[in-house]
Amino acid sequence: MRTFETYESEVRGYIRSFPKIFKQAIGAKLIDEQDNEYIDFFAGAGTLNYGHNNPKATEAMISYLQSNGIVHGLDMATSAKKAFIEKFVSTILKPRNLEYKLQFTGPTGTNAVETALKLARIIKGKSNIVSFTNGYHGLSQGSLAVTGNNFYRDESHISRSNVTFMPYDGYFGEDIDSLTIFRKFLEDSSSGLDSPAAVILETIQGEGGINVSSKEWLQGVEALCREFDMLLIVDDIQVGNGRAGNFFSFEFAGITPDIITLSKSIGGGLPMALVLFKPELDQWKPGEHTGTFRGNNLAFVASKELLSYWDNEDLANAIAYKEKILKTKLEEIASEYKKYNIKIRGRGLVYGFEIINDENMASEISAKAFELGLIIETCGSSGQVVKFLPPLTIDEEILIEGLNLFEQAVKEVISGKEKHIKKEY
Ligand SMILES: *Cc1c(COP(=O)(O)O)cnc(C)c1O
Repeated sequence: MRTFETYESEVRGYIRSFPKIFKQAIGAKLIDEQDNEYIDFFAGAGTLNYGHNNPKATEAMISYLQSNGIVHGLDMATSAKKAFIEKFVSTILKPRNLEYKLQFTGPTGTNAVETALKLARIIKGKSNIVSFTNGYHGLSQGSLAVTGNNFYRDESHISRSNVTFMPYDGYFGEDIDSLTIFRKFLEDSSSGLDSPAAVILETIQGEGGINVSSKEWLQGVEALCREFDMLLIVDDIQVGNGRAGNFFSFEFAGITPDIITLSKSIGGGLPMALVLFKPELDQWKPGEHTGTFRGNNLAFVASKELLSYWDNEDLANAIAYKEKILKTKLEEIASEYKKYNIKIRGRGLVYGFEIINDENMASEISAKAFELGLIIETCGSSGQVVKFLPPLTIDEEILIEGLNLFEQAVKEVISGKEKHIKKEY
């Protein structure tokens, strides 16, 4: 660790939560330099939905490299890109009756978000964007402007105008429909809300604390977008790619976003980002939005293989099956420790475990779980939620083993606290 502590910037993050040097990974497991194994319930924050080093992707990439396949090609036409586009259209878009143009941006999520915001502003000729409380959209300046979390917003002091925040679903508790507030602001020309070009949202706020929006709320946002001439951007970077049960996280609500951002797992673990928009929104001039690394050919090769998980219903069924195991176990733990008022929420294989009566406990559990051999992160505005993001392809036995380690961690943290309290008296 000394190499990192001496030479790598203080900005280091996850290395602090999981302070080991990792050398290998396969499926849902990581292995450190001392040959300890860890079960991975974090999956690169949703980048490894198909597991680490998925053999389908690895084999395809090795043979591609050995055949001197194009690795970098700017945004020129390549065989790998053609194969990816054809696979994506035939496997993902066509069966869902979706018609979108594809734009390859720089390879990170925030590049896709910047692109979506810029395109929406160009099309509508307006600058304002509506984003939601606790949303997370990346940390370049435009994406940061639509990100709610104050921890990140504090990092720079430039102007972040042209964004208005509205309350996300459930922001005021279950009894208040947050959209009545948004609607009122749109209807009242003197509300101070500049007419928005677009609305950007996550259907489940991944970094924001696994806040799950309802079908009705999503349909309501879509209806407001149509009524008030705003584009609907769904940021599916974290909870797309199957995470919420179907390829796109919004499918269950039957909405059709105008623009969709994808990154994280779309490249099968390699950097890649993609923006989808309705064909009539393709108003770019050739080369108007450019970048050196648009389309990572090695990621195209990996991704094309992994998209075959969506050739049939098997993966979606497996996710639903594993969701039951995950949810049942978390609810059992929550009811065992009732006095801590633990809330469980999620969909598909993204779940949050929020300890309402003790905000610090989530990070204590994450640390204890790591000691026991489980990698699991926290999220939420004060890190108060333990976040479950196992690979979608995780074996049932490993999922159960990981959940048992989690339960053990909760038990040890709570019994440690209660012992401590007894001593104080
Ligand atoms: C991770 C994430 C981003 C940013 O992606 P980067 O690759 O880190 O730039 C944007 N939106 C959501 C919802 C994310 O989870």
